[in-house]
Amino acid sequence: MLFANIGIIDENFDYAENQWVGVLDGRIDYIGGEEPADAAKYGELYDGTGKLLMPGMYNAHAHAPMTLLRGYAENLPLQAWLEQKCWPFEGKMNGEDNYWATLLAGAEMLRYGTVSFSDMYYYTPERAHAVADLGMKANLCTSPLAFEPKPIQEFPVFAEMEDGINNIDGMADGRIKFEGCIHAEYTNNDVTAKTVFDWAREHGTRMHVHVSETESEVNGCRERHDGMSPVQWLESLGAFDVPAIAAHCVWVDDDDIAIMVAHGVTVAHNPASNMKLASGFAPVAKMLEAGVNVALGTDGMASNNNHDMFQDMYLMAMLPKGAGLDPTAITPKQAAFAATRAGALAQGREDCGLVKQGFAADLCVLDVSGPSWCPVNDMLTNVVYAGHGSDVVLTMCDGKVVYRDGAWPTIDIDRVKAEVAERTQRIQKEL
Ligand SMILES: [Zn+2]
Repeated sequence: MLFANIGIIDENFDYAENQWVGVLDGRIDYIGGEEPADAAKYGELYDGTGKLLMPGMYNAHAHAPMTLLRGYAENLPLQAWLEQKCWPFEGKMNGEDNYWATLLAGAEMLRYGTVSFSDMYYYTPERAHAVADLGMKANLCTSPLAFEPKPIQEFPVFAEMEDGINNIDGMADGRIKFEGCIHAEYTNNDVTAKTVFDWAREHGTRMHVHVSETESEVNGCRERHDGMSPVQWLESLGAFDVPAIAAHCVWVDDDDIAIMVAHGVTVAHNPASNMKLASGFAPVAKMLEAGVNVALGTDGMASNNNHDMFQDMYLMAMLPKGAGLDPTAITPKQAAFAATRAGALAQGREDCGLVKQGFAADLCVLDVSGPSWCPVNDMLTNVVYAGHGSDVVLTMCDGKVVYRDGAWPTIDIDRVKAEVAERTQRIQKEL
């Protein structure tokens, strides 16, 4: 495809008008102010009048199949939400349910410009097939909840980890990666955690873990582990010896932040989820200032309840101002970087997340012709503060159109919605 006369958010997150962007063999082959000489080789000519092309979003923390729980567990504190509502519901979900739920989650993500997500859940083969069918990217991990102090190799989940690394990592032309994970400190122990981290190091995978989401989690961890915070405990067992995503990090202190900087840990910030579950406000401005790679995540649909990364980007830019009484905290560039490039880096996708020549063509196009986009004093400010996922009119992953003008060329959206509705009803009846 050749995008003609289109505005772009460039590799420095600056705005450029009237650009030509050529996509060839899955990559951004040409960017310039003039029509390329050999324009015909790019195929379809896309009229970019009134449109903005920007990097696709990278959702750094999701639980895609939890889309079945959208609107199911509301107005509850985290532990009751998890133990009384989420876990019993999830216990009734089978592999097929996970496949269809992941298809729906992915369809929603694509509709809002997200091309890739880091997903912590179960039923990895079913999720992987859904991601492959959608034509998008994902870093998948399974989520050990291992309360008994024995090596991970002695838990049933280990078979899924081995299958993940042997058969799923690299699937769909490398769009799917498999990585190591423990659900959280409070659902594991020294022995299981250490054996998972050793396994990740041996296989050279990345790591994904929930960290310091609530104040009570941190207090409990300090009681269980000689005063160590979750970040300190994870570091002591080797969790950060491989590139890692630490999801949430709401209750981290200066020592924790220093550890994360030293190990290059990415924080997946989930502002909507943290507010909905009243977990608190993550010290995002402080983490960015210290040099932490901060990416953005939606978290699961029981605590958000949508996959619109534009909303999370907006909240990331807004909350540190209000909560920190500092209107200068977080620039539009920092928020846009977190939603795109930071997530790509967190997934080990070095050549993704920027509109840059030679990079993977993971893009979204927004219709910026409406009143909320006028005037353009600063386009990126419009994107962060006035934009919505619903402004997206086209999403492209590795050069393939995966969403365009209300249609998903890779899936049967009506069937996906019907399957999800039916399966949710079945589970509700079984509870
Ligand atoms: Zn989560």
